[in-house]
Amino acid sequence: MRNLERLRTGGSGSKMTVGVPPPRTPSGRVYRYSPKEDAHPRHFLLGEVNAKFTIVDAARSRMKLEPRSPQTVCPYSGYVGLDAEFNHPDDMKAAVELVKHAAMSDVEEMLASAFKGLNNRSSRNSLVRIEAKVSSRPRPKPRFSRRDLLREMECDHCGRDYGVYAIALFCPDCGAPNLRLHFSRECKLVGEQVELADTLSSDRQELAYRLLGNAHEDVLTAFEATLKVAYHYALSQRPEIKAKPVKNEFQNVDFGRDRFSAFDFDPYDNLSADELAVLRLNIQKRHIIGHNLGVVDAKFAKQATDAKIGETVHLIGQDIIQFASIGQKVIDRLDEWIGGTTSPKPLNPPAPVPDGPAADKKDNQQMSDTEIDIDVSSLAKKIGTWIATTSEFGLPDPIGGNDIEQAFAGEEARLVEEALAELEAEGLLTSTALMNAKFPRVRPTLDLFAVFDPVVVGFTPFIDAGELIDLILDGTMDSVRLSDLHEKTG
Ligand SMILES: [Zn+2]
Repeated sequence: MRNLERLRTGGSGSKMTVGVPPPRTPSGRVYRYSPKEDAHPRHFLLGEVNAKFTIVDAARSRMKLEPRSPQTVCPYSGYVGLDAEFNHPDDMKAAVELVKHAAMSDVEEMLASAFKGLNNRSSRNSLVRIEAKVSSRPRPKPRFSRRDLLREMECDHCGRDYGVYAIALFCPDCGAPNLRLHFSRECKLVGEQVELADTLSSDRQELAYRLLGNAHEDVLTAFEATLKVAYHYALSQRPEIKAKPVKNEFQNVDFGRDRFSAFDFDPYDNLSADELAVLRLNIQKRHIIGHNLGVVDAKFAKQATDAKIGETVHLIGQDIIQFASIGQKVIDRLDEWIGGTTSPKPLNPPAPVPDGPAADKKDNQQMSDTEIDIDVSSLAKKIGTWIATTSEFGLPDPIGGNDIEQAFAGEEARLVEEALAELEAEGLLTSTALMNAKFPRVRPTLDLFAVFDPVVVGFTPFIDAGELIDLILDGTMDSVRLSDLHEKTG
């Protein structure tokens, strides 16, 4: 059990618990996946903690959780659950592969040493001489690649590094609202775009105008998206409020304000009249640049006193920075509102945080042997389980197509065929098509027992293998049925 033993995290005897550290991205983050189906896009990354970060009391009051607790906050929906609920399906698959690899290596080593014993025991003077050889190719250890996301940041409340798609509402570690942080990062990038445009020489003004146009558009895109995300979150917290699907209302101050009025909240209420006018003008400018190739029309000329119909709309870096900073003011207000509307206490009481080094195990997802799972249909699982219970362990006997037909008479033939193909694709069995049978004759591989046996009998077949070999070598059994084995081993 040398290989499995390396993965051991607890348990004893046949109830060994194994843990597999999840694969990491090049920058050391691990994949996480929200258990909430509607928390689109669910996928996010969790990195390390900035050790130099100091948490201040004001930040603590906005957190849903004590940072580094054994719980995680879904950054998209705010749901709080145990770390294990956030295991990424890809990591679960990887863990199964790694455990399978370790177990198969152990079985091979055990068989090799068992046969070595057999060879030693068969005396040179006996009438019959038995010699057995086990050869096995070294198994390459499976490797998994993990990618970083573009949007990565450090929570300004607790110092946890994480990555999300687009915009998220909460820090996955402490649960503090992070909308403000997301938008300020966007503004920083926009500032860099403006700087870049400013460095262009006078003969490249067309490119400079285009760069500024893109930066301007990025501000509105981020602003609109942030309002939308916050609005959807607010709706999810107040299911009694019925609303039509959102279109592009948040590109317009009045329509956006109207949407939020359902919550008795105005995201623009901390802007001065001048700031509000600049915000409106910039949103209008965006439409001119986006839809009218930057040519001023009558409606825009009325709003912007310095613009003449037919001229190209004036756009300088300073406008964009101003647009972004007014946008930030609105998002700050939104962030404050979300922090106030959600409970600062965890939704689920957190489990006690263990003292000492165990507390650092946060990222070592643990998987017990009974949780071993593969990504196949439930019928395929049923068939796999059936094969594991009816076959002779360790000596994979073929199962006739007629037996399968009989056992799964209630199922649609096409679905049974598909399920068998799934198991074959997973390397759990091989099949031979026969002329006179509805289903092929199948032969389970050792992997099938590795996958399905723990589910069926509640203990790992890798331990059975050792005991089984001893029983055979002792001469008490020459071939073993699983039911007999249960009597012998309990
Ligand atoms: Zn945090």
